[in-house]
Amino acid sequence: MSTPRKFDAIIIGAGQAGPPLAGRLTAAGQTVALIERKLVGGTCVNTGCKPTKTMVASAYAAHLARTGASYGVMSGGPVTVDMKVVKARKDKVTVDSRDGLESWIAGMKGCTLYRGHARFEGPHEVRVGDTLLSATRIFLNVGGRANIPDMPGVSDIDYLTNTSMMQIDFLPEHLVVVGGSYIGLEFAQMFRRFGSKVTVVEKGPRLISREDEDVSDAVKGIMENEGIALRLNAECISFARHADGVTVGVDCTSGDRAVVGSHVLLAIGRRPNTDDLDLDKAGVELDKRGYVVVDQELRTSVPHIWAMGDCNGKGAFTHTSYNDFEIVAANLLDNDQRKVSDRIEAYALYVDPPLGRAGMTEAAALKSGRKVLAGERPMTKVGRAVEKGETQGFMKILVDAETREILGGSVLGTGGDEAIHAVLDLMYAKAPIETLQRAVHIHPTVAELLPTIAIELKPLDS
Ligand SMILES: Cc1cc2nc3c(=O)[nH]c(=O)nc-3n(C[C@H](O)[C@H](O)[C@H](O)COP(=O)(O)OP(=O)(O)OC[C@H]3O[C@@H](n4cnc5c(N)ncnc54)[C@H](O)[C@@H]3O)c2cc1C
Repeated sequence: MSTPRKFDAIIIGAGQAGPPLAGRLTAAGQTVALIERKLVGGTCVNTGCKPTKTMVASAYAAHLARTGASYGVMSGGPVTVDMKVVKARKDKVTVDSRDGLESWIAGMKGCTLYRGHARFEGPHEVRVGDTLLSATRIFLNVGGRANIPDMPGVSDIDYLTNTSMMQIDFLPEHLVVVGGSYIGLEFAQMFRRFGSKVTVVEKGPRLISREDEDVSDAVKGIMENEGIALRLNAECISFARHADGVTVGVDCTSGDRAVVGSHVLLAIGRRPNTDDLDLDKAGVELDKRGYVVVDQELRTSVPHIWAMGDCNGKGAFTHTSYNDFEIVAANLLDNDQRKVSDRIEAYALYVDPPLGRAGMTEAAALKSGRKVLAGERPMTKVGRAVEKGETQGFMKILVDAETREILGGSVLGTGGDEAIHAVLDLMYAKAPIETLQRAVHIHPTVAELLPTIAIELKPLDS
């Protein structure tokens, strides 16, 4: 083994946790080697949150333009979408964000950015190309990628993933989205709004199956209202080339047995980028699905190696990856013991209207054996939603009947991604439901109705 270049810390992956950790470590006087094999900013900045939400905004503009007449706004002709402009706008937002990150890293005194694929050569040694590095501490922030299951015919066709979708500057005639969960549904609705015919193929009986049934049903209605075809219970998905694109076998209990699409997007979950790191050479333990096993402080089975972000399976979001950085930094640099279990699960689904979620679902709350109180209100009875002409969805909160603490909430409706934070912050404060009941919220907002729901709680039947 050649003599390695020595650092205090090596960080593999410049995703959502790596760069801020490099910032904290270098500010504390440590030398850091940050290794990135592709684009700084990782999934969120380049192929995930940022570009997709930029495209969702274009799709929303198209939707508003089409429905403008109902607001009294006449656009004078059919609405068309220029996909080259949509892509250029998305590219600019992404590149600006990545450039910002690059200059931040470049300005970190003591941080060296290595471009290339990192692999372990020993517990403290990591190779990038011809360069061997070693460090006292090593941090993994390698994220994940689209999962491509070995379904019949998949290797015979050209398929799209969230990464290749970023290159699309044309309108697919018929986009078949395989996977009826968060990523699939966002792409499905946006491309429908851009003007494509869209079919969502989902092997389960309902969309976003980790949510409660009422949420799944409402999201199904939102998709169907826009003319998105849904093929649920597609138990034997298969693929074959077709003169017009791809035949997707759906094997549904009803309807046609196959769908022919011009393009197929595979949105069937993610898998961690842990299979090409030679982690065995460091002795880092993985679970059955390939996620790095970590403790509450995100330390792996090897005490000087930590894993942050999607690769540890403790979260699958930008905010969870960033929070992983905060936990590691607090424990190592601030003498402030923070842990993963301090975090309350929260996320959003960015269909329109969006779903904001915090804490437990109804099913989880009941399964926990608690006595649960629930309050609910349809968006048709939320003034702000009515005024905006966006009345799809509903909101609900769940409360522990004994402790009076909020267990969870769902806001599916206009502004739901923001309004849910009124629930989330009270959960962090462990405030009793009476706090929400007496809170005076601003009129007219969606969140304004949360105190009303809190007053109208009823026992939830098991
Ligand atoms: C389409 C889509 C939409 C999404 N939308 C949202 C959203 O709205 N909100 C949200 O919170 N989350 C969203 N997510 C999830 C979010 O993008 C991820 O949870 C987040 O990016 C995870 O960050 P990370 O730091 O764990 O890893 P990543 O951001 O994936 O970064 C990992 C980095 O490590 C690098 N790397 C991997 N292996 C190596 C190696 N061996 N050597 C060197 N470098 C390596 C990769 O190139 C990458 O740059 C979305 C994801 C997708 C796919």
